[in-house]
Order: sequence, then structure tokens, then C-alpha cells
Amino acid sequence: MQRIDHMYINGEFVTPHGQQWFDLHNPSTEEIIGQVRLGDEKDAQRAIAAARAAFPAWSRTTREERIAALRRMHRAIAEREEELLQAIVTEYGAPSVRSRWMAEYPAQTVAQAIDALESFEFEERAGAARVVMTPVGVAGLITPWNSNAGFISNKLATALAAGCTAVIKPSEMSAMQTQIVAEALHEAGLPPGVFNIVNGRGDVVGEEIVRNPGIAKISFTGSSAVGQRLLSAGAVTMKRVTLELGGKSPTVVLDDADFAEIMPLVLQAGFLNSGQACIAGTRILVPRHRLAEFEQIAREAVSHVKSGDPRQADTDIGPMVSARQWERVQNYIRIGMDEGAALLAGGEGRPDGLHRGWFVKPTLFTNASNQMRIAREEIFGPVLTIIPYTDDAEAVSIANDTAYGLSAIVLGKDIERCERIARLIDAGRVLVNTLVHEPRAPFGGFKHSGLGREMGKWGISAYLEPKTLMMESAQA
Ligand code: NAD
Repeated sequence: MQRIDHMYINGEFVTPHGQQWFDLHNPSTEEIIGQVRLGDEKDAQRAIAAARAAFPAWSRTTREERIAALRRMHRAIAEREEELLQAIVTEYGAPSVRSRWMAEYPAQTVAQAIDALESFEFEERAGAARVVMTPVGVAGLITPWNSNAGFISNKLATALAAGCTAVIKPSEMSAMQTQIVAEALHEAGLPPGVFNIVNGRGDVVGEEIVRNPGIAKISFTGSSAVGQRLLSAGAVTMKRVTLELGGKSPTVVLDDADFAEIMPLVLQAGFLNSGQACIAGTRILVPRHRLAEFEQIAREAVSHVKSGDPRQADTDIGPMVSARQWERVQNYIRIGMDEGAALLAGGEGRPDGLHRGWFVKPTLFTNASNQMRIAREEIFGPVLTIIPYTDDAEAVSIANDTAYGLSAIVLGKDIERCERIARLIDAGRVLVNTLVHEPRAPFGGFKHSGLGREMGKWGISAYLEPKTLMMESAQA
């Protein structure tokens, strides 16, 4: 059993002041596989002090110096890909294709930050003035469990690219991934204090980061409820805030689509990351006059989706991350049935033959209304809801009738029509007939899905304040 008994402050692994231990589980077996010692408010304060002390020197580094540091960071993280893969499968249960992607993604995010930094304009003219983009100060970076290593790497690389220093509060449930990333970052030889990592609970370490006047900016990825709380609590110290939150993304199937052809995309989008993805396409909008045909093809396709041991190559859906998450998903399946949606596949309980592990049956509800809770609330599991619509206008209206606006997919044969509909959907990202991810494009959401954007120049800008410089002209 792995015991993680230190955190990373001011360039060293140190023993936390906090005394509490937190159990780490393997969600495929429900066994305790490790423990992490959690930090407390004092640890967070110590990390913030270190990041503040490192800020003046780091904020004055040149572009070339930052690029050199980020390249070392990229190399060190890329070298840990296999270890990350094992940690991701063990403590989180992502199936093989997904876990491979998640193990590669941390290094990819650093590469995109380097790309963006290479061409970023830190100074430009505005009339007679010069505008100098200036780092905001120490950034507090808070990550979720569903892509912990990726979000630590992305947020840190972007903050450092902008000239900020950072205190990272990773998800307490992903301490093995955090440990590997921390070791890699240590090897990268970044100056002491520019990044600090404090394992801890959200309501202890997270709250201290949000409250502390030494933190100028928060970048948070997690649930909309916690995001809202951070926004209001952060207002007291006027924090700059970037929020990447939840979703209830629509997959709009147009009536000219070949259902057999698009079904793999529909299911991959919905069951992405075992359904534990912010961008999962969980509302499937289907033309009413072809609903029966869609249902028949969908039922057949879901019968081949395998939920089970993530180490087996043919597994599509791994376990839910925790017992709590498993219960939550079961509860939503009951809610869907109580609300009167028709169960097309799956349902309550574990998949046949599995008696241990937080596994869920891939579940499809159909003939649902967009007003049902299963259509409005983020379930965060492999539970999809088919909602019929009459015409394109109604499809767009249902797609937009949600508190969220993170992502959407449009599937159809007529590309111009798809694009027309894509432009009408209120979401940070709309994909047409593809699930391809472009890490250089801005990522983030409308409405309750968040505030601001990450990635590319948009990501770097979020850690900078524009400063206008006006000089007395030479002739005056
Ligand atoms: P969560 O909101 O419970 O926790 C996220 C992080 O916030 C954790 O590190 C947690 O410890 C911390 N936290 C909790 N309470 C806090 C508080 N009061 N103050 C400060 N920090 C606090 O989310 P989760 O369950 O870890 O992740 C799943 C959620 O994340 C889903 O809603 C999902 O949609 C969302 N998510 C969004 C994106 C995106 O890019 N939009 C990506 C991945 C996940």
C-alpha cells in the first residue's frame, strides 16, 4: 500500500502540518490501495508565502527563460507517461484507450502552452499608448479527480507561461497521479517556490486558497456548485477567476443522418471517460419521425458496449470513481424511471457477472422530455437520455434549454446545415461529425459551465492584466 506523506513547497518535498490521512481506493476492486496525508490551512499559507516570494523574480523572466523551463517540464512529464498510465488505471479506473490518452495529455498541454507562449504578444499599441500585459500574481490552481494530472499540467504551464507563480490544490482522490507529476516537476528544476502542491480537502486547503489575499487569481476545474461558491467567496479579495465547470451537452442528430454510421460517435461522446466527463454528450436529440429506427440501432449498439475491468483491452466503460459516485448514478437511474422516461438499455445495479467494483450498466433512457431531471442535471456516469424533437428549430431550442453550455455535437450529412445549427448552439465548443480535440483552441463554457477560457493565447491572457503606458511624446 502506497503512503504519500509529503507535499511540495518551495522546491522541496515537506511533511504537512495537517495530521489527517485520506484513503485512496481502487474503484475496480473497492480495495484501499493507499493513503495520503492531507495538508491544512497552515500548509496552504506556507505554500502561498513561497509562491509570493518567488513571484517578483519569475514575473520578470524573459520569454526565452520561461520557454526553456517549460521544455524541461514537458520532457520530465512526458518521461512519466507509463507511470501515469498505471496510476490513472489503478486509482481511477479509466479504460485502456482513455487512460492512454489521459497519460499522454499532461505533456501535450505543456506543449500547447509552449506553442502559445512562443507567439504571445505581451505588448501592443493602442493609439498613442502601449499596452503591457502584466502577470496578475500568485495563481491558485484547483483540479478535479477526473483528469487530475492533465489539469495540474495545463493550469501550471499556462500560469508559468504568463509569468505567474502557483499554489496547486489537486483533487485529494488522485494523490498517486499528483505524486508522479510532483516528482517530474521537481526533476524539471524550476526555481523554488514557482510552483507548490498542497494535497488537502476542498473545504480546508481549497477554502484557504480562495480566502487568502496573497492569491490574485483562481483557476478552478470542478463542479458548478463549488465553482459558484468560489466566485462569491473570491469576490471579497477581488480574485480573478477562471471556472471550468459541469455540462449537460447535447448531441444533435439531424434527420438526414445515417444512424448506423453515426451511432459509434453518439455512444463514444456519451460514454466518454465512463460517462465521467464534463463534455460528455448526455442528451441525444433525435428527430421524432425517425425515433423508433434510432432506438432500435442504439439498443443493438449498446448491447456491445462493455462495462467492466479497465485493464481488459475490450472494455469501453470502467468503474465510477467512488462508492458515492456509484450511488449517485444509481439514484439518477431511479429518478429517470420515476419521471416516466422509457428505459431502452441498462438500468440499476452492476453489469451481469460483476459483484465487486463500482461498475454501472451502460444506460439509455428514451422518449424523455428536456424538463426531466435526467435531462437537466449532470449525472456524471454512463447514463444517456434520448429526447425527440420535431424540426431543426426545436432541436436548437432544446439544445439551448439548459443551464449549461460547455460542448455540443451536431451529426448530419448536409455540412452547411450542420454548421448553421452549430452556430446557433450556445456552447463553448461545437463539433460537427467528429470528436477530435484541438488543444490549441480555447476551451470553456457558456452559462453555468464556467467563466473564461483555458488553452492557447486565451488561456495565457487569463493570467495577465493589461497595463496602459503613456509616455510624454519626444516633440512636446
Ligand atoms: P468538485 O467540485 O467536487 O471538486 C473539484 C476540486 O475542488 C477538488 O480538488 C475539490 O477538493 C475542490 N473543492 C471542493 N470544495 C471546495 C471548496 N469549498 N473550496 C475550494 N475547493 C474546493 O468536482 P469533482 O467531483 O472533483 O469533479 C467533477 C466535476 O468537475 C464535474 O462537475 C465535471 O463536469 C467538472 N469538470 C469540468 C471540466 C471542464 O473543463 N469544464 C473538466 C473536468 C471536470
